Amino acid sequence: MDKKTFTVAGGGPVGSLLAILLARHGYRVGLYEGRPDSRVTSIYQGRSINIALSDRGWNSLQEIGVSSDAKSNAIPMYHRAVHGVDGELSTLPYGQDGDAIWSVSRGGINEQLLDIADSEANIKTHFEHRLIDVDFDAANAVFRVGGGAETKVEADYLFGADGANSKVRRLAHHLPRFSYSQTYMPQSYLELTIPANSDGSHKLEKNALHIWPRKDFMLIALPNPDGSFTCTLFLDHSGEPSFESLQERSSVEAFFKSNFGDAMELLENPVDVFMAKTATPLFLVQVFPWTFNRKVGLIGDAAHAIVPFYGQGMNCGFEDCAELNRLIRFYDHDWDAIFPAYEARRKPNGDAIAELSKRNFIEMSDLSGDRRFQLQKKIEAKFSKQFPALWTPLYSMVTFSPEVPYSQALRIGDEQNKVMQKIMALPGIEESWDEPFIMEQLFELASKALNN
Ligand SMILES: Cc1cc2nc3c(=O)[nH]c(=O)nc-3n(C[C@H](O)[C@H](O)[C@H](O)COP(=O)(O)OP(=O)(O)OC[C@H]3O[C@@H](n4cnc5c(N)ncnc54)[C@H](O)[C@@H]3O)c2cc1C
Repeated sequence: MDKKTFTVAGGGPVGSLLAILLARHGYRVGLYEGRPDSRVTSIYQGRSINIALSDRGWNSLQEIGVSSDAKSNAIPMYHRAVHGVDGELSTLPYGQDGDAIWSVSRGGINEQLLDIADSEANIKTHFEHRLIDVDFDAANAVFRVGGGAETKVEADYLFGADGANSKVRRLAHHLPRFSYSQTYMPQSYLELTIPANSDGSHKLEKNALHIWPRKDFMLIALPNPDGSFTCTLFLDHSGEPSFESLQERSSVEAFFKSNFGDAMELLENPVDVFMAKTATPLFLVQVFPWTFNRKVGLIGDAAHAIVPFYGQGMNCGFEDCAELNRLIRFYDHDWDAIFPAYEARRKPNGDAIAELSKRNFIEMSDLSGDRRFQLQKKIEAKFSKQFPALWTPLYSMVTFSPEVPYSQALRIGDEQNKVMQKIMALPGIEESWDEPFIMEQLFELASKALNN
C-alpha cells in the first residue's frame, strides 16, 4: 500500500488511540501534543483524576488490541453506594450480577496509550507542539514548538483530537456552512480527595461509585488503586446554594456539614480546597460537519464535548476510533468514502449521548430523593429480569450494550419512559407494584410500544 500520512493534533486518550489504529493500518502518523510529555514531566503527579470506563470504551480498546494493558490498574465498581443526608447508606446495582463500570486513571490510560504509540514504528510523537493553524484544503498544519518557532507539517489527512476547546474546530468556524453551538450547564465542578488509610486501604467501600445526591447538587467519589478516592462536587455556578453564593468560610463549612456530614470526616481539607480553588464550568459543544473536504476530521471531545453525568465522554471518543477502524476495513482505505461515512454514523450518536448526559444529572442527583422514581426503577428492573429480550433498562443500554448505538438507546429509552409513565399512573401503584397483573400490563404495553 502507498503509505499515506496523517497528522493527529492532540495526544490525549483519543488522539493516542487514533494514532495507534491508523499506524496499525499501515499509515504513517505524526502525533502532536501541545503540552510537555507527562511521562517525563509528571504533569499528572499529585492529582489522580479518574474516570469511569464502561463496555463501549473497553470494547473499542479491545478492537484496536490495547485493552489488557489498560485494564491492569482499573477498579470495577459494581454498584452506586448512595449516601443519604442522615448518613444512611443504600446500594443500587449498575446492571445484572457482575456488570461493572471501571474506575481508571485518566492520566494513566493516556500514558499507557502513549507508550504503545511510541512502540509503533509508524508513529512519531511530538510534545510541546501546539497547533495554531490548519489548511483545510491540503490538511497541512502549523505548530508552535515550545514557546518559540513555528513549524509547518504536511500530511495527506489531519484529525483534530485536541479536546473540548479544540483549536482545529475553532479554525473551522470560518468555513462555509459550519454550525456550532456551545451551551453552559448551570453546574460547575470542583475536585476533592478522600485520602487512603495509613495502611493504604480505602476509607469507603472500594468497589462502588459513591454518590451523595442532594437533588440540585451532588458529590461523587471514585476509587483509586492507591487507596484514595477522587471526589467531584457538582454545584450550580450561581443561585442558592452555589459556588457564587458560598463565599464565607463559615457558610462553606456549614454547607459541607449539613449536606455531606459523613464525607466531611473523610475529605482532605474540603473547606480549604473550596475556598482556594475556582470551580470549573461544564459546557456542551455540538458542531456540524465533523469532516472537511475529505481531508480533515474531528474526533473525541473536539467533535462532541459533553457533560460528564453519564460517564461516557471518553467511552464515546474511543468508540469514534473503533468506528473508524471498521470503516477503514469496510471501504478498503478509500478516505473519500470513510470521512462521510464516519460523520454520518457518529454524529447522531454524539448528539444522543450529549442529550442523555444532560438528562442524567437529574437521575444521579435525585437517586435517593424521589420515592416514585425509585419505585419506577424497581418495577423496571423486575420486568427486565423477567423479559430481558423485550426490555433492557436505558442505563444498561448506554453502559453495558455497545452493540446498541447511543441514538437507538435514546429512542428506545424515550419509548420505555412513556410506557412507565402509564404504569406509574395506575391507581394504587405504590401498593400493587409487585402484583403479577402489573407485569402483565407492562408486558402488553411494552410489546406494543417496543416491537413497532
Ligand atoms: C469532571 C469530568 C468527569 C469525567 N468523567 C468521565 C467518565 O467518568 N467517563 C468518561 O468516559 N469520560 C469522562 N469525562 C470525559 C473525558 O475526560 C473526555 O471525554 C476525554 O478526556 C476526551 O478525550 P480527548 O482525547 O478527546 O480530549 P482530551 O482528553 O481533552 O485531550 C486533548 C489533548 O489535546 C491537547 N491539545 C489541546 N489543544 C491542542 C493544540 N492546539 N495543539 C496540540 N495539542 C492540543 C491537550 O493538551 C490534550 O492532551 C469526564 C470529564 C470531566 C470534565
